[in-house]
Amino acid sequence: MTFCIIHSGIKYRLNDKLKLNLNECYQCGKCTAGCPLSEDMDIPPNQIIRMMQYGNPQNDDKIIKSYSIWLCLSCQTCFARCPQEIDLPAVMDYLREKSIKEKKVNPRAKKILAFHKNFLKSVKQNGRLHEAGFIIGYKLDTMAFFQDVMLVPSLISKGKLHFLPRKLKSQNQIKKIFKSLNHPK
Ligand code: SF4
Ligand code: SF4
Repeated sequence: MTFCIIHSGIKYRLNDKLKLNLNECYQCGKCTAGCPLSEDMDIPPNQIIRMMQYGNPQNDDKIIKSYSIWLCLSCQTCFARCPQEIDLPAVMDYLREKSIKEKKVNPRAKKILAFHKNFLKSVKQNGRLHEAGFIIGYKLDTMAFFQDVMLVPSLISKGKLHFLPRKLKSQNQIKKIFKSLNHPK
């Protein structure tokens, strides 16, 4: 992999942090063509890379505020298809972190962010997902109290919804992982 001389903006930090050279992208569009969510994104994946290539702060701001970065599933399809091996899922992760830090999360992504936060909170507390705790946290954050409520009886009857958490024994190791990631308390 080669490294480029980058002057400013997100692409500089991506180069610094992830050793990614976004200038290697030649806009073939294979990432967007294979992305299962591209039709619902406000900025398609290849255009996100293109906008960052300019190193323009206004473009960077639009990307950080976009809905696309929250729709990305980290499915890796774009990365597998990219002839230049641009790690777009890692770029999306970085952009989401930046979006949260700068308090620029797209308002349409509120439920997605609530999902991420409550999922991680549950794993951090229990070492694994506690379904009931996760659902309660998600519904309190989003006020979507009645969404999917009809599924509850069937989930309980199939043993998919546990009301008491089943904690892992190796809690200390889980705590260490979160600590190493500087995850907020
Ligand atoms: S597939 Fe790779 S080279 Fe092609 S547009 Fe997407 S990021 Fe750029
Ligand atoms: S990782 Fe994200 S951007 Fe890439 S194909 Fe999957 S959903 Fe689309």
